[in-house]
Amino acid sequence: MPRSTESESVILEVKNLVKHFPLRSLGFRKKNRVVHAVDGVSFSISMGHTFSIVGESGCGKSTIGRTIMRLYPPTAGEVLFKGENIFTLQRKSLTAIRPKMQMIFQDPYASLDPRMTAGELVAEAVEKHGIVPKNQLGDYIISIMKDCGLSEEQAERFPHEFSGGQRQRICIARTLALQPELIVCDEPVSALDVSIQAQIINLLRTLQRERGIAYLFISHDLAVVKHVSDTVAVMYLGEIVEQADKHTLYVQPAHPYTKALLKAVPVLRPGAALNSLILSGDVPSAENPPRGCRFHTRCPECMEVCAREFPKPRVLSPNHWVACHQYNGPPR
Ligand code: SF4
Repeated sequence: MPRSTESESVILEVKNLVKHFPLRSLGFRKKNRVVHAVDGVSFSISMGHTFSIVGESGCGKSTIGRTIMRLYPPTAGEVLFKGENIFTLQRKSLTAIRPKMQMIFQDPYASLDPRMTAGELVAEAVEKHGIVPKNQLGDYIISIMKDCGLSEEQAERFPHEFSGGQRQRICIARTLALQPELIVCDEPVSALDVSIQAQIINLLRTLQRERGIAYLFISHDLAVVKHVSDTVAVMYLGEIVEQADKHTLYVQPAHPYTKALLKAVPVLRPGAALNSLILSGDVPSAENPPRGCRFHTRCPECMEVCAREFPKPRVLSPNHWVACHQYNGPPR
C-alpha cells in the first residue's frame, strides 16, 4: 500500500490490519462462515494531525478503531503506537500505554455511569493511572472541565442533568484528563444536533491545537470530516479505496465511490440543486464480498476487468492514492 510522504513524526502506524468475525456454523451448514469487516488496511497518523476514515455504515471503519484500541482481537496485521506493536504488548505494558491512546464514542450517555457525578467521572481514570498527585486532583479535574467548556458547579451534577452536547464534553474531559497523545473519535458528533456538532468539532480542534493531540476520526459524514481532517481515507466494504490530503480529496476525488459520496453531501446554499446519491443497490454482504473490485456491483463506471481483477493502489500525487482500474491504464 502506498505510504504517506509526510515528514512529521508518526505516532500511529497501521500495517495490513485484518479483522474477520467468525459466524456460528449451523448444523446443516458445515462451511466456516466469516464476516470480512476489515481486509488489509494500512495507514499512518502524524503527531498533532487528524486522519479521518469515512464510508457508509457497515464498511468496517468503527471496527478499525476498536481493533486498534484492542477492544477486538485482530485477525492479522500490526498496529504500532510510537513504534511499539500494541498487539504483542503484555498486560502491564498495555496498561502503561492506555492513557496515551484514548477513545470517544458516538453515544455519550451510554459511556457515562449514571450513578457518578461529572467530576467523579472525569477523576475516575486519573486516579487509577496516577496522572496527578492526590492533593492536586480536585483542581486538576476542574481545570480540565473548564477547558472542555464545563463549569465548576457542573462537577457535582449527574449525567442525566446534562444535554447531549454537554455529555459529550464530559466524555472529552474524561479522555483529556489522561493527557492522551492519540484519540480515536468514533462518530463523536453523529448523535448530536447540527449546531451542537459544530461546538464539539470546534472544541476538538482547539484542544488539538493547544495540546498537539492526534485524532483518528471515524465518520459517515463527509461534511463533518471536511472540518476536522488533514488526511481522509475513504473506505468501502473493509478496504480503503482512496486516500488523500483533505483539499485534494474534496477538490479532485478520483474513485467513483468517493465521487458518489461527495455528490450526496447536502449543499447549504440558497438555490443550490439537491444532489442525490448516484449509487444504486445495497452494499454487498461482508460475508461474501464481490471478487475483483468490491465496488463493481454498484459502480456507475464499471468495466469488464473490474469484476475479475483486484485494482492495485495507484499513487496519483505525493499525498493521494486510489485503488481503481481506471487509473491502471488499459485494458478498458
Ligand atoms: Fe468502478 Fe472498476 Fe474503479 Fe471499481 S475498479 S471503482 S468497478 S471503475
